[in-house]
Amino acid sequence: MKVAIISDVHANYEALTEALNEIDNIDVDSFWILGDLVGYGPLPDECVDKLKKVAASAVAGNHDLGAIQELDIENFNVDGREAIVWQRRRIGQGNLNYLRSLPVRERPDGDILLVHGSPRQPSWEYVLTSWIADENFELFKERICFFGHTHLPVAYRKDGNEDCTAVIVEEGSEISLEEGGVRWMINPGSIGQPRDGDPRAAFALYDTEKNAVRFIRVEYDIEVTQEIMRKFGLPPFLRERLSRGI
Ligand code: ZN
Repeated sequence: MKVAIISDVHANYEALTEALNEIDNIDVDSFWILGDLVGYGPLPDECVDKLKKVAASAVAGNHDLGAIQELDIENFNVDGREAIVWQRRRIGQGNLNYLRSLPVRERPDGDILLVHGSPRQPSWEYVLTSWIADENFELFKERICFFGHTHLPVAYRKDGNEDCTAVIVEEGSEISLEEGGVRWMINPGSIGQPRDGDPRAAFALYDTEKNAVRFIRVEYDIEVTQEIMRKFGLPPFLRERLSRGI
């Protein structure tokens, strides 16, 4: 089975559409969505419409919970808060209900855990270092945890009781997920607001037969998204950061 792993779409419909076109060529069997379907971007309703059709499993991110007022957005930065308040008025009732139905942890099979942030704090914690990952490996038992939230593609490898290590992830690179007690925490990067300096949409492909994960980047017309954001008067920084991938 081939599974597309998608995270942090953040209402960027243009980026999502290009990623889904690319995924169409690969011919995947399933989609797992790691949260933050909404927040920041200009077309939340359109993105949820598309994602809920394809998602076999999905979890809620902090922005999704902010949109349905199940998480206090006081901790968001000013721009993020402004965008989510604006989006609350734009997302249709059916899609708000869909976001409300999402769990914060999901197990699409016995070997796999999906969260947005981390196993320890699924809606909030940023796994930005191998020591944070190491602590989290203690808190789940599945072989692979897919997570998002940082918008940075990465794979953390944990072999038994050894310290966890970050594996270098490059575009197009494929990581072979050895068995024999080795466990993984893997972030596919962000579709709608990459922060690793590469503005292209990022996602991953998990091939269960090959037991491997491939990291993929797709170009999209950033100016289309920025123009809609300008039209709707969304905060300028949210618009500009898309060009720089920060
Ligand atoms: Zn996010």
